[in-house]
Amino acid sequence: MQAKNQEEKKDFLKEVVSFIQEQGFIWGPSPEIYGGFAGFYTYGPFGKLLKNRIEESVRRTFFSEGMREIECPTVLPDIVWKASGHLETFSDRTIECSKCHAEFNPNKLIEENHDISADSLSEEEILAFIKKNRIFCPSCKGALKEEISSKSLMMKTKVAGSDASLRPETATTTYLPFPMLNNLFRKKLPFGVFQIGKAYRNEISPRQHLLRCREFTQAEGQVFIDPKEKNIWEKYQQIKSVKLPFWSSESQKKGISVKPVAVEEAIKSKLISSQAYGWCIWLAYTQFANFGIPPERIRLRQHHPEEKAFYAQDAWDIEVRLDTFGWTELCGVHDRTDYDLKQHAKFSSQKLEAQRENGEKFIPHILEIAFGTDRPTFALMDIFYTKKEKEQGKTMFKVPYHMAPVDVSVFPLMKKPELTALARKLKAQLEKEFIVDYDESGSIGKRYLRSACVGTPYAITIDYDSIEKGDATIRDRDTEDQVRLPLQDMADTLRMLQAREITFSGLKKLD
Ligand SMILES: [Zn+2]
Repeated sequence: MQAKNQEEKKDFLKEVVSFIQEQGFIWGPSPEIYGGFAGFYTYGPFGKLLKNRIEESVRRTFFSEGMREIECPTVLPDIVWKASGHLETFSDRTIECSKCHAEFNPNKLIEENHDISADSLSEEEILAFIKKNRIFCPSCKGALKEEISSKSLMMKTKVAGSDASLRPETATTTYLPFPMLNNLFRKKLPFGVFQIGKAYRNEISPRQHLLRCREFTQAEGQVFIDPKEKNIWEKYQQIKSVKLPFWSSESQKKGISVKPVAVEEAIKSKLISSQAYGWCIWLAYTQFANFGIPPERIRLRQHHPEEKAFYAQDAWDIEVRLDTFGWTELCGVHDRTDYDLKQHAKFSSQKLEAQRENGEKFIPHILEIAFGTDRPTFALMDIFYTKKEKEQGKTMFKVPYHMAPVDVSVFPLMKKPELTALARKLKAQLEKEFIVDYDESGSIGKRYLRSACVGTPYAITIDYDSIEKGDATIRDRDTEDQVRLPLQDMADTLRMLQAREITFSGLKKLD
């Protein structure tokens, strides 16, 4: 499908948002009964199941590379954020409406209406762009003031009378138990740790649904590494010839489009600085492919020198092309060097060091793969929501089968005791290992539609033959093909379909 223009994107956003609200994916801003609090959303039952799938995928991907999961507090004393630099510098630009005095993030105002990344523009360039393109206050259409200030994104609180903040990222909190982690990994670098958990940012007027929340879930992997070993990275050998869609800052400036390049080539041409960092980029890309995002919608964008975070040496984003918001940042891969551990050593007066075999002490470097689980959840809904105009606007959620919120629907053909009893028995049996949706109300056609609408790959229908012959039909979401299978084989068959050991058309041939 072709990229949508700005108007089409806005219309599509309205359509997607109403779909995901009606189907019980995402509700908000919450709490609705009090008028809604911008930047806070509720996951309804199907949205929560979808987000769980994303998080299971994150765990599998990181675990398969030997990384381990930890969970740290979300509230920390301000000395931590002073050390990390967040209290001083973690802020966004803001611009005020001269009429209603509402505040906005000018970068976002620009990006909402123009397909450019405003982060690389200077303050003067931002103001000039707003003037030239006649961007007004989105609330009252008043003129925006011709000055830009900055506002801290930290969410403040007090604990026992002391200043504290809610964490704006999981990363910093993963670094703090370094001495314990180092002992646990037997003082052998490199090792990798990740967290999936809530973080908070006091965003200035968030208006992009799940993409910009004030409370959100992050999934961040951290690799602790000896800086001298960045270019002797064992796992690099297996991935060096993999081609990835690198888009250098130079190509961006010249308007040259993305051309896939092998990781090895990217290092040779100095696009990326080390084998270990190249491996992290590959792992991040693999994660997004594992989510089921089509490769043609993924690109790796290098940060311009002026937009790099204060701590980062090397910085690339994974961007995904959404039908609602266009190319959108979903992940950042950063070489944070020894910045974090050095800072925390200084502020805590503790030694945060590792030791080489020859006894030499050093401060480890940290490579970070930073993303969240809300944006990928939104991306799947954006990409795989479909509407068939020809069939009276029939909507479907064509999410890849392995990411579907529900594994299988079970229906009795009609609401008759002998049918519902057997259907419930099958449901109870399947629920031991699958997420099952049971539905006995409405016509069978409507139930198939409802099931497809939330993306469920298979639907099993119990009919009168099932009572006599002990079998039932199983129906495939996308092809709408049906096969009769013995009830006792249902669980095994579903398992084989999920493991891709058999295809649905393969099942039909057996029939
Ligand atoms: Zn206004």
